[in-house]
Amino acid sequence: MQGLLKDWRRTNYANQCNPEIAGNDITVMGWVHEIRDFGGIMFVIIRDVTGRVQITAPSKKVDEKIMEELREFRKESVVAIKGTVQEAPKAPNGVEVLPKEVKVLNLANQPLPMDPTEKVKAGIDTRLDSRFIDMRKENVSAIFKIKGQMFHTIRDFFYDNGFYEINTPKLVASATEGGTELFPIAYFDREAFLGQSPQLYKQMMMAGGMDKVFEIGQIFRAEEHDTLRHLNEAVSIDAEASFADDEDVMQILNDMLVHVITDINDKCADELEILGHELEVPEEKFPHVTYDEAVDIVNAHGVEMPWGEDLSREAEKALGDEMGGFYFLTRWPSAIKPFYVMPVDGDEKYAHAFDLMYNNLELSSGATRVHQHDLLVKQIQERGLNPEGFGTYLKAFEYGMPPHAGWGVGAERLTMVMTGSENIRECALFPRDRHRLTP
Ligand code: ATP
Ligand code: MG
Repeated sequence: MQGLLKDWRRTNYANQCNPEIAGNDITVMGWVHEIRDFGGIMFVIIRDVTGRVQITAPSKKVDEKIMEELREFRKESVVAIKGTVQEAPKAPNGVEVLPKEVKVLNLANQPLPMDPTEKVKAGIDTRLDSRFIDMRKENVSAIFKIKGQMFHTIRDFFYDNGFYEINTPKLVASATEGGTELFPIAYFDREAFLGQSPQLYKQMMMAGGMDKVFEIGQIFRAEEHDTLRHLNEAVSIDAEASFADDEDVMQILNDMLVHVITDINDKCADELEILGHELEVPEEKFPHVTYDEAVDIVNAHGVEMPWGEDLSREAEKALGDEMGGFYFLTRWPSAIKPFYVMPVDGDEKYAHAFDLMYNNLELSSGATRVHQHDLLVKQIQERGLNPEGFGTYLKAFEYGMPPHAGWGVGAERLTMVMTGSENIRECALFPRDRHRLTP
């Protein structure tokens, strides 16, 4: 059968081919990025996950049988080549490989649905329809290499700071906040929903005595808007800590982000360079601005914002222009925050709630939570919801619930900041939006 690896194995990735190994016989494997046939000499660029390596085949030095095999190559086919490394200052990494044996592992059909070398530019829809080819572009894979490192560093940060990792259900019986932005599904003979947030579960873990927990998991939002910063399926990085308040968890979030950005600069320097993105390590302590101050700033920028309303897109932009970088927006009006948010003692019009912003983009919402059963019931009722719908959640507040606080960060929004992406779809492998359910 054709196309089998058999005893062939890669000895060197593209980025391991350099003048130091000139004279060595190696095996490289990857995709055919480019073929240039000048008759007497052929150049084939092979691309793998690390970069590119040039195969140079002068007919004078290379067997005619191999020349013929090379001529069979098609762009984006998967191939393996055994050959000798020699110095070539103009080639990638200063070397080329003189082929001794070649093997086609899988031939790519032509024409390709899109051009991964970007000589012909494709729009975002064409790219997402053929995401597997789009991913072959180094400026696309760089985004996901950075996103992966971001999760790695965040997990390390949590583990180093005494957080336990949890997984909570994504098939749920009712809404987190009583909102309508839920995807209903058939659950045997009942209706159920896809979870929009692990909020209620991570709070129940506080009653479980886990003290500090985090979860990195999918959230589903049936929001109809079609923007550059909303997806219908996103990944949320959620944290909850007992015996802590909003100030404490803002500090944790602040520390985490400084750590993540430092680490990405360190470990993803190549990817940042490919993206042409300079990721500035923020000041140790992010500025805090209260909601009241924000209203004044926004109004001073000529954007109308009545007290007590959530920030419109224009308001976010005005505030972002004034503040820039990372900043916390604190002390929100209670009325526009969910029932589980703790009001300020003696000034209940305000809540111990915050958002973390980057320029005009909301990255996170968090708060001190209500841990007193009766206050929680009151706040549920005040928002026109029925406490009976929250039975199993409320039960956790009756038998020893510690004071606690937490936040959730949207992973794709954070990836936008880390990679300098303008469109959140660039930061999800297979984005789900209003119009897209495949691939
Ligand atoms: P926005 O006001 O920007 O729509 P939100 O306030 O509805 O966001 P939260 O419910 O506070 O969002 O969710 C916490 C975080 O999860 C947000 O700060 C954001 O980073 C992320 N997030 C929420 N909804 C989405 C979404 N539809 N797509 C991508 N990320 C989201
Ligand atoms: Mg929010």
